[in-house]
Amino acid sequence: MKRSAVNILASYIDALHPIIYINHFDFKVIDDVIARVGEHAKCVEFNNALGLIDFKTKSPLCECDLEHFLKLTMDDGFEHETFLVLKDIHNELSNPKIIALLKKIAENNLYNDVYHATILIVSEITVIPRELENYITIFDIPLPTISEIHTLIQDFIRDLEISVEQDTINDIALSFKGLNEFQIKQILNLAYQDGGCIDQDDKLLILKEKEQFIKKSGMLEIVNFTETIDDIGGLENLKKWLSRKAKVFSNLDKAIKFGVDIPKGIMIIGMPGCGKSLTAKATASLFEIPLVRLDVGRLLGKYVGESEENMRKALKLAEAISPCVLWIDEIEKAFAGVGGDGSGNEVTTRLFGQFLTWMQEKENTVFIVATANDISRMPPEFLRKGRFDELFFVDLPNGEERRKILDIHLKKRNKWNKGIDSIALIKETQGFNGADLEAVVKDTIEMAFIDGKTSITTEDLIQSVKDTKSISSTLKDKIAQIKATVSKIDIKPASTPDSSKEA
Ligand code: ATP
Repeated sequence: MKRSAVNILASYIDALHPIIYINHFDFKVIDDVIARVGEHAKCVEFNNALGLIDFKTKSPLCECDLEHFLKLTMDDGFEHETFLVLKDIHNELSNPKIIALLKKIAENNLYNDVYHATILIVSEITVIPRELENYITIFDIPLPTISEIHTLIQDFIRDLEISVEQDTINDIALSFKGLNEFQIKQILNLAYQDGGCIDQDDKLLILKEKEQFIKKSGMLEIVNFTETIDDIGGLENLKKWLSRKAKVFSNLDKAIKFGVDIPKGIMIIGMPGCGKSLTAKATASLFEIPLVRLDVGRLLGKYVGESEENMRKALKLAEAISPCVLWIDEIEKAFAGVGGDGSGNEVTTRLFGQFLTWMQEKENTVFIVATANDISRMPPEFLRKGRFDELFFVDLPNGEERRKILDIHLKKRNKWNKGIDSIALIKETQGFNGADLEAVVKDTIEMAFIDGKTSITTEDLIQSVKDTKSISSTLKDKIAQIKATVSKIDIKPASTPDSSKEA
């Protein structure tokens, strides 16, 4: 793994990238990479607490602040090839004097043939001052490849003198994909301490640890759920499509070898309260993979470039926990203000572009479920084929679907019985969405309990229907608008035609 990191960093320096921002928390790993790249260079290091220190021994050489350090060492670039290694200086990057000094060094590097100093900023927090945007290159240490993960596991096993089956090593290595060397070693240690060996059960531990990383990052949210595909009433086309993709997902390795493309994801557009969120959860359950939610609002930061950096990290994290379902709820709000009349918010527009590129190029096993109500202000490039595998429209449930939804919610509460007249209910509930129907069932059951009944009747349900204001009456205009917008795009209906022949 380090070899490729070394090669990439060396190529940046050769190509005269004057300031390289290394975004990492493990300084030891980074020092190792820098030492290899700078084998023949002079490395001088700045430490926030100690000032100028010896890069190799880490012993303090001169107590000073960053400004002093830069003035002291910047001319070294005229004498030798020099690396100025600046650790954890992100807080200093709003200081105009520091910015000016860094810019001076960068310009010298670029335009003075006899000057060879490269600045390497190492920090877990990325701050890019606008004045330095054109000089800074962000460098990510590449994550270990499968064969590098294999080597890490083999080294670990050899050091501890334990034996592990080859099949287990292969499986565990796959689960580790997306984590860095530090994290992999940490989990291997934990697994060993836990059970005194490394076995198949450790895959669960890896998943749990991955969840921990996600929680700590604060950028994505793990969604716990109990819903399955059977909890969705209707939406048969959508469910059939998902079941097909589930077959690919559960045999990814074989499917890819056979030539099947890795599914990218779906966009579900439609009426409020009709099962879009439910479908996101049911997808994760069907694919048997975790569900993580991306909240774009949470990524917005106050520094220049911070939001883009957060988006980059969030998408990397999703890749780390993959295979997973990445759910973006109300995507039209997440990217509100993009495109349209051109007055769109600059940051959101950039985030949107970044997300589109990632989607377009992605070859990982992150399956996107994007849900939206109102797409009238969504940029058309989002809806173009090729981004998502498919676009589905979820309409208000038809008669047959309303019957199924009522049945599901009655059965969930053990109150379904043969005497319930579904035809009468279909007629009474025209214009109701799934959430309305669920509310009707809940109210009816509560009333029956209060009245001391043991079961419920069609009349009880009809009474609650009459007491419920359906979405069609409360959000009439919104519904008409959604229908009008959707009629203009190429989108598949999530439902099959109604077989109940409702009036
Ligand atoms: P919004 O656009 O308002 O976020 P949504 O389409 O995501 O709405 P859900 O959150 O999936 O709606 O549905 C709300 C509730 O309504 C769910 O908890 C579920 O119980 C019920 N519901 C909606 N549609 C269905 C359905 N097709 N089958 C069963 N229950 C449904």
